[in-house]
Amino acid sequence: MAEILRTEKLTKHFGGVMAVSGVNLVVNRGDIHAVIGPNGAGKSTLFNLITNYFEPSAGRVLFKGQDITGRPAHAICRMGLARSFQLTNIYPKLTVFESVQMSLLSIEGLAGSLFGSTGKLLQEDTENVLEMVGLIEQRDLIGNLLSHGDKKRLELAITLGNRPEMLLMDEPTAGMAPDETWEIVDLVNKLRLEENLTILFTEHDMDVVFEMADRVSVLHQGLVICDAVPEEVQKDEMVRECYLGSAWPVTS
Ligand code: ADP
Ligand code: MG
Repeated sequence: MAEILRTEKLTKHFGGVMAVSGVNLVVNRGDIHAVIGPNGAGKSTLFNLITNYFEPSAGRVLFKGQDITGRPAHAICRMGLARSFQLTNIYPKLTVFESVQMSLLSIEGLAGSLFGSTGKLLQEDTENVLEMVGLIEQRDLIGNLLSHGDKKRLELAITLGNRPEMLLMDEPTAGMAPDETWEIVDLVNKLRLEENLTILFTEHDMDVVFEMADRVSVLHQGLVICDAVPEEVQKDEMVRECYLGSAWPVTS
């Protein structure tokens, strides 16, 4: 199977804290790949290094065989590696439709056109993305007025507007009620199947992890201590020990 992303000895320390330590991660194209680990394990830092929100202390990141270490976030996004933020992508005053249209226009270099006479531009593409995430009915609502779960869908739609090949999601179901969580799980599974997206995500709910993931990497104190299929990770003694005290398989 072809690899799409690779990190080589990726390392980040903040002063004396080794947040990420020599991480070699390989993500295969088309996989849903989970990164798990207790709070403070380095998951968010790892994601920030991959998309160059943090400069690594050492190591490098390869996407589709190209060294992307130190490249600007927008350049990485244009190569097809996008990340969804924690709702910070939503334009609070635009409608659902306008928000997604905006992200499609911006990848076409036409963002300034939205408020001019070209409001109909990319109408069909926008509708397709809204259909994909199940927000077509809410198209004329203001983004800020959506439920938490629908905001996450909108955020995903905006990210998909960038037409990524690979998506990074840091705790996509944080703060969600169980039914909203499972709707997002279904949606992510659908995106993988229909759009052939590769997905790298972190998640604290192990039911979600083991339902979704093809592969799981376990971080502990900045180190990858296990990297395997879910069934093996669940049986791994070292992983169990790391979660000791916080009744396995719950992390946070
Ligand atoms: P996780 O996402 O697995 O909970 P983080 O990547 O957020 O873990 O944090 C890993 C470690 O790095 C923690 O000890 C955290 O306190 C530290 N850390 C994360 N971000 C910063 C930062 N911007 N400045 C200093 N320390 C940080
Ligand atoms: Mg985190």
